[in-house]
Amino acid sequence: MDPKDVQSINLASILKEPGTKSAEGQIEGRVGPEAGGIPLAEPADWRVTVTHMGGEFWLSGEIHGEAVMECRRCLKPTRVPIHAYFQHLLAYQPGVEGVKLVEEPEEVYYFGEPELDLSGFLYQAFALEMPLTTVCHEDCAGLCPVCGADLNETDCGHVRELKKTTPFVALEGLLKELS
Ligand SMILES: [Zn+2]
Ligand SMILES: [Zn+2]
Repeated sequence: MDPKDVQSINLASILKEPGTKSAEGQIEGRVGPEAGGIPLAEPADWRVTVTHMGGEFWLSGEIHGEAVMECRRCLKPTRVPIHAYFQHLLAYQPGVEGVKLVEEPEEVYYFGEPELDLSGFLYQAFALEMPLTTVCHEDCAGLCPVCGADLNETDCGHVRELKKTTPFVALEGLLKELS
């Protein structure tokens, strides 16, 4: 694996004494788990800094990339720029496996090894910035409800036909405004 693909930071030099460490990298293909992660149009860039001060570790970072989502009207793959920032409180506790979140009394992520796995933090931040839906462009005409043709590319005539015959023209207009 290309060292650039590694999503972790080595904190060995600041585990026992105060200090700051930074790391950066790039994620290709998808952010998150192999199955179910978020597909990327372009590699996503990330950078993090961990500061150890008074027994506390502060993780702050950012990830920038372009996700691929389906246009909600015509289903075309659509690029969605994502800029995510995150900050978490961490605590070092030898013996903890991976990264473990404890929510009470405040959110603290425990880690037990000098090599801190960042993949969960990066995925979480990226996923939180994802919109629920997207459109390929503001006035995407969508798909024909009768034959499924992409109305941005062809005019199959069905929609005009429907408008003439249906008593629900007004309702249809309203639905369009809502969608
Ligand atoms: Zn579209
Ligand atoms: Zn049609």
